Amino acid sequence: IIYTMTVTYYRKGKTSEQVLPATDMDFASQVESALDNQQFYLVYQPQIDFNTGRLKGVEALIRWQHPTKGMISPVEFIRVAELTGLIVPLGKWVMRTACAQAAAWRDHPVLGQIEISVNVSALQLQSGTLVEDILGILAETGLSPHRLVVELTESAFVQDDGENARIMRSLKSAGIKLAIDDFGTGYSCLSYLRDIPGDYLKVDRSFVLELPGHNKAEAVIQAIVSLGKSLDYRIIAEGIENQAQADFLQRIGCDIAQGFLFARPMEADALQLWSSSPHSDM
Ligand code: C2E
Ligand code: MG
Ligand code: MG
Ligand code: MG
Repeated sequence: IIYTMTVTYYRKGKTSEQVLPATDMDFASQVESALDNQQFYLVYQPQIDFNTGRLKGVEALIRWQHPTKGMISPVEFIRVAELTGLIVPLGKWVMRTACAQAAAWRDHPVLGQIEISVNVSALQLQSGTLVEDILGILAETGLSPHRLVVELTESAFVQDDGENARIMRSLKSAGIKLAIDDFGTGYSCLSYLRDIPGDYLKVDRSFVLELPGHNKAEAVIQAIVSLGKSLDYRIIAEGIENQAQADFLQRIGCDIAQGFLFARPMEADALQLWSSSPHSDM
């Protein structure tokens, strides 16, 4: 059975009809009530500076503790949240929770200095209120904009009539940093790289997975790193699982490392412990 549900959350005031299968509809209403029932929480994955070995920042990643199904991966529910527009209130919750957490670390010797990266869906850009939402959250939590990095995937840059670029420039002029997430997957248009005010370029895990030893994968990643660096991006490699990958990436000039080799995503109190142990240095 196919149900039709009306999407009102995004596309700037224009409502549009979205057809969702019954299973997705049911899932969508569960996502909605999970938000009310506080079943979501955030974990934080360390990002380490290759040159200094120090913690540069953490990426906030959402988790859903479902009452009967247990832990559900964001890979499973972000898509439905996007289809229904629920990504807008959900994304706002993530932004508020992450910024409040980073602000609460203010007096911590390590965590008080680092950047916090928050994933923002391209659909949140279309809500029309993203900039004011984020600025409101920064004011409310007292977090400095310089400590916030907004992670956007390539689709936000490629399918853009100029409006997304304008939003990015507003965030940028407020002092917020921008990262291009999952770089190299899906889209091949590179011209946007020179037009948007990005700070970080995140090389997707699928490239890192093939390192080292595969000549073509090495060549592609090397090209990405040198292109990014010549455009003044700092390069973050995600999904580093072994020392050989880390060594290769460091040798070709990658700036920042993220991956299970260094640390898995963890809850705030575990991160606090981790950051004061010697493991935080490479
Ligand atoms: P992403 O933004 O590219 O996040 C990195 C993903 O790679 C995370 O998966 C992280 O746990 C995983 N990862 C990091 N290092 C390694 C590694 O060494 N090995 C392996 N196998 N995986 C590694 P996670 O947390 O499952 O999130 C998946 C995706 O879901 C994210 O990819 C992001 O696109 C989306 N997502 C997560 N949280 C949010 C959120 O709050 N908002 C939005 N819009 N999307 C989110
Ligand atoms: Mg990300
Ligand atoms: Mg990524
Ligand atoms: Mg990825």
